[in-house]
Amino acid sequence: AADLPALSSSDPTAKALDYVEDNTKSTNPKHKAGDDCTNCQFYSGGPTGRGPCQLFPGKSVNAKGWCVSHVVKKA
Ligand code: SF4
Repeated sequence: AADLPALSSSDPTAKALDYVEDNTKSTNPKHKAGDDCTNCQFYSGGPTGRGPCQLFPGKSVNAKGWCVSHVVKKA
């Protein structure tokens, strides 16, 4: 499948959800250490690189990224 274009940190929705490419750089008080896109239920990519997120259709998010809508994936 063709790679989706990378979500821009300046995208209005990305800003609204406080998205960061590197979860360890998040200053959002809701960010918990260890949480990133790979353990979020809205992510459907692999463990590294970039992948799709249901909240950002048509864009790819960083596997190590994070946003305030993070919900821990159910096992
Ligand atoms: Fe990452 Fe989940 Fe936020 Fe999507 S909703 S950007 S997968 S933390």
